[in-house]
Amino acid sequence: MAKATSWSKPVTKALRADGVKVSDLNTSATPGFKGDKKAGEALLAERAGVLSDLQEKLYANGRSGDTRSVLLVLQGMDTAGKGGIVRHVIGSVDPQGVDHAAFGVPTPEEKKHHYLWRIRRKLPRGGQIGVFDRSHYEDVLVVRVHDLVPPDVWEKRYDEINRFERKLVDDGTVVVKVAMFVSLDEQKKRLQQRLDRADKYWKFNPNDIDERAFWPQYQEAYQAVLDRTNTDHAPWYVLPCDSKWYSRLAITELLIDALQGLKLDWPEANFDVDEQKKRLVRA
Ligand code: ADP
Repeated sequence: MAKATSWSKPVTKALRADGVKVSDLNTSATPGFKGDKKAGEALLAERAGVLSDLQEKLYANGRSGDTRSVLLVLQGMDTAGKGGIVRHVIGSVDPQGVDHAAFGVPTPEEKKHHYLWRIRRKLPRGGQIGVFDRSHYEDVLVVRVHDLVPPDVWEKRYDEINRFERKLVDDGTVVVKVAMFVSLDEQKKRLQQRLDRADKYWKFNPNDIDERAFWPQYQEAYQAVLDRTNTDHAPWYVLPCDSKWYSRLAITELLIDALQGLKLDWPEANFDVDEQKKRLVRA
């Protein structure tokens, strides 16, 4: 069985975005992990149990009034595997403890409001792991790449997002931001699969092919996000995603790290345990 020592350094260090150049990324690398796919999958099976136990503790504390939470922000180019993370990583924990939200093209109602309005409404409640499949970062990514608002409008958003996340963290949410990258070739392979397999048609969106033409602009927009919103209170992790087993393992480890940082204990009973035991004998 694989051991935790398969990591040569903690995932939080291996993936931290500090100084990363998006255009130089090796998307098939497995930073910090020494093992192969088999070792990675074996370790993931083991670590999913650890994540599940920690999540249960968070949930239990939330039920007892603890207002803290964890927010996983997933950003990535199409086919990077956000859906797979939600199914395979988040799927390994109790769904009662997960607040999942996906952010697509804003609805007419959402368009009437500030871009953070829809985000605020979906923030995790105390005791929950929130998962954002896309996020407020779309408002400095797709919006910037396609000139959906003038530059002086999106330009101000980086600082605004930093302030927004600062407040979130101060209010007790641990924010884990993951930027997921595949190579242009790997993306083509994954889109091809979606066209070759009837069970994948539902994932295919013709617009994904159009977006490939904007790859350099997206890289530039992602670079700006990493340069300007990689704060100590809400750090970015840069995840190479050509190997699905690695991306799932790495996000599992990031969540374990975030939850361990909360130093959770099981909540105290809010009743007299001995008294209730006696009552149960008589019942
Ligand atoms: P996915 O492609 O992740 O399966 P959807 O098809 O529901 O999900 O929608 C995602 C699309 O919505 C992406 O093309 C994304 O760029 C776009 N989108 C998300 N947020 C915004 C936004 N604020 N403004 C414009 N487009 C957005």
